[in-house]
Amino acid sequence: MSGSPALTIGVLEGDDIGHEIVPAACRIADAAARASGLAIDWRPLPIGRKALDEVGHTMPPGTLETLGTLDGFVLGPIGHQAYPKVPAAINPHPILRKTFDLFANVRPTRSYPGIGCLYDDIDLVIVRENNEGFQPDRNVVAGSGEFRPTEDMTISVRVITRLGSRKVATAALELARARRKRLTVVHKDTVFKLGCGMFVEECHKAAQDYPDVTVDEVIVDTFAMKLVREPQRFDVVVTTNMFGDILTDEAAGLVGGLGMAPGLCIGRGEIAMAQATHGSAPDIAGKGIANPYAMIESTRMLIEWLGRRRGNAAAGHASALMKAGLDAALADPATRTPDIRGTGSQADMVAGILKAMENTTHAAA
Ligand code: ATP
Repeated sequence: MSGSPALTIGVLEGDDIGHEIVPAACRIADAAARASGLAIDWRPLPIGRKALDEVGHTMPPGTLETLGTLDGFVLGPIGHQAYPKVPAAINPHPILRKTFDLFANVRPTRSYPGIGCLYDDIDLVIVRENNEGFQPDRNVVAGSGEFRPTEDMTISVRVITRLGSRKVATAALELARARRKRLTVVHKDTVFKLGCGMFVEECHKAAQDYPDVTVDEVIVDTFAMKLVREPQRFDVVVTTNMFGDILTDEAAGLVGGLGMAPGLCIGRGEIAMAQATHGSAPDIAGKGIANPYAMIESTRMLIEWLGRRRGNAAAGHASALMKAGLDAALADPATRTPDIRGTGSQADMVAGILKAMENTTHAAA
């Protein structure tokens, strides 16, 4: 295998455990790519606390400009709550998602044996709207969607648009079509008659172009309960930003915790961003025990997505190889981190994945 066009992928380590799990993800992706005849041109770029200390801004303009020229990028977790309160220390998330119109956050939840999942047969994907909703740093052009008219009153504004709803619904329907052809729309239109009402309307309108996909609706509080009691009944779920934020953490809790919660942010454009669901976990940074699964799987999803979009067979092969490596490492407690009932360190897990990929490559040769 050779001759597939190279992919250029930005590397933004982020903060805290990002400095461990992002290099791990790139190392594994690079090994899989090499074994598959795929060249990846990795472009490390400054972001986050390290960028603030070194170049004076958490989101340097050069980073954004360069990202716009690439095929995709890997973003590590950002610990912006701990940034000093200075104007140059902004949260880069909303800027990245808005600039590249990454309106759909695709977050899968899958069971693996032996790691502490509450059920052994979960396989669902929550598609979270990414660029509007209640998130005050994303839902207005200038200023914030939260404001305080008097000392004793705060108003938080939720933005729902027809276009934003339609776009994320279409992304979820595409995904459902490629999976078990079931889409569940999660909302609360019993209370948010206009906002959730519009979201639901647009989901149903978009679904008219997908007659092969069965669409149902569940009210968000009922969904939160059903997700715990019978997660197997769900395939693809689409919901607004804040509901998606909460429900994806709940879903992660079913399958071993936040270390098992990957994500890929996609939009209409040609660029996508690999981003795990979890935060920068400062409590375990530097201890060598952070679970790299979510970051590696997010990177694998990016490579698979790029392979499909660009018709790049070698990228598809690299993604399959990464999956084989992850499955094998997760099957052995010695190559799993402690959060998922393992006895290994992060380095053991990375070594286990690399070894399993090597074995898979040799077996196929
Ligand atoms: P954010 O609001 O930025 O999403 P958070 O407040 O939810 O962050 P996290 O940083 O995600 O917090 O951490 C929550 C808990 O999950 C912490 O105890 C942390 O150690 C744990 N955790 C998060 N990611 C991982 C991981 N990859 N491996 C192991 N434990 C993790």
